[in-house]
Amino acid sequence: MTVWCLGSINLDRFYRVPHIPAPGETLAARELTTGIGGKGANMSVAAARAGARVALIGAVGADGAWARDRLAAWGVDTRFVATAAGPTGHAIIAVADDGENTIIIHPGANHRLEAGPLQAAFAEARPGEWCLIQNETVLQAEGARRARAAGLRVAYAAAPFTAEAAVEMAPLADLLILNRVEMDQLQAATGRGPDAQGVATVVVTEGADGATGYDAAHPGGLHVAAVPVEAVDTTGAGDTFTGYLLAGLERGMGLGAAMGWAAKAGALMVTRHGTADVIPNFSEIDANFG
Ligand code: ATP
Repeated sequence: MTVWCLGSINLDRFYRVPHIPAPGETLAARELTTGIGGKGANMSVAAARAGARVALIGAVGADGAWARDRLAAWGVDTRFVATAAGPTGHAIIAVADDGENTIIIHPGANHRLEAGPLQAAFAEARPGEWCLIQNETVLQAEGARRARAAGLRVAYAAAPFTAEAAVEMAPLADLLILNRVEMDQLQAATGRGPDAQGVATVVVTEGADGATGYDAAHPGGLHVAAVPVEAVDTTGAGDTFTGYLLAGLERGMGLGAAMGWAAKAGALMVTRHGTADVIPNFSEIDANFG
């Protein structure tokens, strides 16, 4: 079984600066480090570190070969990552000495994804496998329709959130994953709560309060507590949770067990600085939380 992830790949460039530049100011960076980011890449790495077979469907530019090689070395099948014209999606992140940051994101190749890799991937997919989609590429609805036509189950992580995209994707999804703020926005847009979105399973992540899942067996919600930890950096917690949730469901875990495993992975992630590089693997989850 494979988890198919249609999603974004970014180069995250961190520039260390003494302070956030004021309008019109030119500032020399002290240090530059580049990492892999993007929700598609992060969730794929999380699912792979959870032990799942994962194939990522996406696009990078000619400058993205490094990211593709790195993802492949981390166990993600990158055969369906196309090379598109122009730059790889990237984030320019200025980090000041006091920890303040500013971020500019350029979607780059993530917005030039074409249907070819989708077709090729789903020709290999088997009915019952999961396809995980988020909101940082193009072709989400087309991808979901093609996935369903191939007999796949569709999971949609509704981030970065827009009500328009969530309303379009919900009828195409078997599983909807969103955080509490996003759920409130969806409820405001549709007038319906998490149990009435017309999606078989809805999982609402609640940060340090854990997560709540809604399905036919739990219309009032199945709550899983967070694992208490000392959080130092919450970046990537949601992506890690989602990758583990999918890997758990793919392994045949029930909703509560998969959410519990994902909550442990999310908790360990918030104790670390960084993104894809430091997403924990399943043996670390066992070693830390049993
Ligand atoms: P982000 O956008 O920061 O990646 P998110 O808003 O999508 O995150 P969260 O709800 O913040 O997602 O976190 C996902 C999961 O990670 C939570 O459901 C929880 O299980 C775990 N988690 C997050 N923050 C903490 C924390 N401070 N302590 C323990 N577990 C946490």
